[in-house]
Amino acid sequence: MNCIFCKIRDGEIPSEKVYEDDDVFIIKDIDPKAEKHYLMIPKRHYKLIGDMTDGDAAALMRGIRKIPSLAESLGLTGGYRIIVNQGDDAGQTVFHLHIHIIGGQILDFPDLKKR
Ligand code: 5GP
Ligand code: ZN
Repeated sequence: MNCIFCKIRDGEIPSEKVYEDDDVFIIKDIDPKAEKHYLMIPKRHYKLIGDMTDGDAAALMRGIRKIPSLAESLGLTGGYRIIVNQGDDAGQTVFHLHIHIIGGQILDFPDLKKR
């Protein structure tokens, strides 16, 4: 399978990994859109929220619940936002589910434009 995030998980593409456990890993986004921009990526490949098994959902929620304890080391003590882009309208470009974690600055709500 030609998936960038599976290749990063397997060490075939280098990344700046800042956290890893049995469920998820967190890397720095290669093209940061905020002062701090990380990606939490489940180790098991699936594309969309709609593809998740109950086990995937539990694993991802365990990952999300780790974020508060990582906030200080990630420079996110002022708060952060998590974003999951799904499909074309959201601009999803990598079809291995991932959670953007952004912060390190004031996060204005993005300008949204009608299709
Ligand atoms: P999406 O647009 O699918 O929600 O988010 C994909 C994210 O992955 C983008 O923010 C993009 O910058 C990031 N990205 C794409 N390729 C790589 C890569 O090879 N390494 C890292 N660290 N991030 C990547
Ligand atoms: Zn993958």
